[in-house]
Amino acid sequence: MKTIGLLGGMSWESTAVYYSVANQLVRDRLGGLYSAKIVLDSLNFAEIAQLQRADEWDRAAEVLALHAQRLERAGADMILICTNTMHLLFDHVQEAVKVPVIHIGDAVAAAVRKQNLQKVGLLGTAFTMEKDFYRERIASHGLEVIVPEPADRALVHRAIFEELAVGIISESTRTMFQRIMADLVAAGAQGIVLGCTEIELLVHEEDCQVPVFPTAKIHTETAVDAAMSEAVSSEPQ
Ligand code: GLU
Repeated sequence: MKTIGLLGGMSWESTAVYYSVANQLVRDRLGGLYSAKIVLDSLNFAEIAQLQRADEWDRAAEVLALHAQRLERAGADMILICTNTMHLLFDHVQEAVKVPVIHIGDAVAAAVRKQNLQKVGLLGTAFTMEKDFYRERIASHGLEVIVPEPADRALVHRAIFEELAVGIISESTRTMFQRIMADLVAAGAQGIVLGCTEIELLVHEEDCQVPVFPTAKIHTETAVDAAMSEAVSSEPQ
């Protein structure tokens, strides 16, 4: 079994999902005392979020590249950037290491295609919903992506940083997400990509009329598949 490197802490609330899902999957598949081989480098999210707000993406890229190299030196055979947003810097991170960095967008697009869906709604941080990097990566798999209206994007972004990433799970916010997802479905979404790794802490399958795609879980599943298979690749599938 290969070692999975987690570039985590963004936020730790969702990195905990990666750690737990990877171990659970390995136990489900191999049984007994089997567990996942993981190295984790957990960043201080306050520092990263500050760089995001200040639009200092070059500095953030340096930080992520440095930590990815630490993971590689620590024995990681593959690396997961445990946040959708920071895939904005995917190319910088991949260039900094020799081992493959598994793209969360490729993993989720493969899951959507498996269900034969064509058009998905995307929820995430404002960076993920509004910049091109994420929508284009999903679209490169032949999928159509729609996002909420600006006012709703602001609500989702605020809920991520002021509630979900600090461990607050509230019923009223869940109701708000249900309404925003229903609007995306009314606009033609056949599935909803929970494109921020904290959203799946709040929103579940039963909150939506169409399938939801929890990105932390799907990303981890893809890594566990790779860890238990012969070849590991960072190429789009
Ligand atoms: N975990 C979130 C994501 O998946 C947000 C954290 C961040 O801004 O990096 O995008």
